[in-house]
Amino acid sequence: MNPIGITKSDTISVAFLFYHVKYFHYFYSMEPRNYLDTYERKETYPVEEVLKHVVPGIKRNFRVDFDGDSIKMHSDRYFTFKYKGCKCVKCNMEGTYFAKERHKFVSTEKYKDTYGQSYHFNLYGIKEGREVMMTKDHIFPKSKGGKDNVENYQPMCIECNAEKKNNVEDVKQ
Ligand SMILES: [Zn+2]
Repeated sequence: MNPIGITKSDTISVAFLFYHVKYFHYFYSMEPRNYLDTYERKETYPVEEVLKHVVPGIKRNFRVDFDGDSIKMHSDRYFTFKYKGCKCVKCNMEGTYFAKERHKFVSTEKYKDTYGQSYHFNLYGIKEGREVMMTKDHIFPKSKGGKDNVENYQPMCIECNAEKKNNVEDVKQ
């Protein structure tokens, strides 16, 4: 007898939904945070040690072994840092090291490789004692038809990127 009609599969769906709501902010908020809550981190590397492998014409599947982990080197972010520099265009914070990281929360074999179980590099700098991630920002916003290519990217720290999103008039065009 199930007077309110909730089935086992409904319960699983609700649990699944809460799981995603719980982790949603890690990917869609730009609030300052402790990255180690989100990422599992291994070694860190000097900027040049990573970017020396990011050269024009590398194949999409080109990988380099970093201390036992094979890392895909074709990435718009890496190209942005290589060709546009590692300094935030707004606050001038400089990304000074790469950390080899992967998302922490996906642990099932099923989602391995689809949700970031392989390691990649994130670039970080230190701003007023905080570790702050560097991102690639669209110079001309994607929402206004800005292109997804390195010409339209600029390095920006995640904190300035968050401010920019809230102040459309700041957007450089
Ligand atoms: Zn900044």
